[in-house]
Amino acid sequence: MKPLTETEIRAAFVNCSKGEAKRLPVPHDLREQPWDDLDYLGWRDPRSPVRAYLVAELDGRTQALALRCPSSTGQTRRTMCSMCLTSPVSGVSLMVAPKAGAAGKQGNSVGTYVCSDLACSLYLRGLKDAGPGARLNESIAVEAKVERTVANLAAFLAKVTG
Ligand SMILES: [Zn+2]
Repeated sequence: MKPLTETEIRAAFVNCSKGEAKRLPVPHDLREQPWDDLDYLGWRDPRSPVRAYLVAELDGRTQALALRCPSSTGQTRRTMCSMCLTSPVSGVSLMVAPKAGAAGKQGNSVGTYVCSDLACSLYLRGLKDAGPGARLNESIAVEAKVERTVANLAAFLAKVTG
């Protein structure tokens, strides 16, 4: 994905208020992110383990999501990430996104299981070790796995904004 600035990221949030988007923590090391190898940039709130964020460019639009990880105080389960289909040793968390607009204000949300460290892109490309047995034994190319992950992310985003 193309590198994003803090301003672009803050402006891209689809499911939180403008005030929240202004205050939430954006990584300080944006320039050092491996953008060429990222399908989305995801990060945890360093002050609050129950909050996570991700930003992606889908259909030519930069869109960002505010997420909650309700179970992150317990142990992470060794299960499969719904985005990249990896089961990393570091765990997968249920991440819940309040829906965009009026539906979100009424308390509606959608949840999905995502790699707890939000490193799907790096696992897919073999740039981060997910641990023994973490990857499906598939013979498809990395490009196809990336395409599938982006499609999964787009489907989740469509549920949040739909
Ligand atoms: Zn993943």
